[in-house]
Amino acid sequence: MDRRNVTGLNGLVHEGLFNSHTGFLIDVACHADRYAVVEPYTQFDPVLLTEDPATCTGCRVLLGGIQGGPRHPADIARECADAVLADADNRGYPPALDDEGMRLAFVRLAPDAGGLRPLFKRLARGVYDPLNSYRTEPLYALTQEHLVDTLTERAMVVPAGTPEVLIRYVRFTGGELQVPVGVGDRLTYDGLASGHWDTGTVTAVENSGILVDVHNGLPPRHYERHEVSRSFAFKRDRASAPLTTS
Ligand SMILES: [Zn+2]
Repeated sequence: MDRRNVTGLNGLVHEGLFNSHTGFLIDVACHADRYAVVEPYTQFDPVLLTEDPATCTGCRVLLGGIQGGPRHPADIARECADAVLADADNRGYPPALDDEGMRLAFVRLAPDAGGLRPLFKRLARGVYDPLNSYRTEPLYALTQEHLVDTLTERAMVVPAGTPEVLIRYVRFTGGELQVPVGVGDRLTYDGLASGHWDTGTVTAVENSGILVDVHNGLPPRHYERHEVSRSFAFKRDRASAPLTTS
């Protein structure tokens, strides 16, 4: 997540919180929400970025770091993201990144959250607003961005000495990049022509290509290096350690 000051529609300077890969403005620190800066149905204009100090009172309080004052939402979101990721890793799966997945994670986490319990209980309730189906809990978006940053870093790491074979990786909150393939990674086949978006597990990465187990009872199939990006659509997120299948 990137944090840079922006000039809002009414001339106030806020601290903006951005998607680090697409430059999308997610929110402003004071939670006035992104529409304090961007007109609905328009894109964020980079011309609004500024080096000027924040003039919005809400943002200034958060940036001042006053003892006992309110905490910065990016810091709160980071703490939430760490808790959600630890919970998912503990269960052996990557975290669910959609709003409902986030809400359910906090439903699980709230009872044992200690000092964070009131916050997690609020996040577990989510936002129900029949008049505005697009309204979501603002901390979800910031937490998702932290999670996606961590999962992206994770996707870029393979065991040392692994021959380099690259594949597409698509970030949940936008942006894609080429990442290396490692043993234990799960790759999804490009099913555009067949309609079958099967997922296989990489069992070996060699100079000549990779071996992929599709869990269909047959031995893992070998894909030449040049076949990898043609056969597979993307690499999926993974849990902290490869799953043991026994
Ligand atoms: Zn502000």
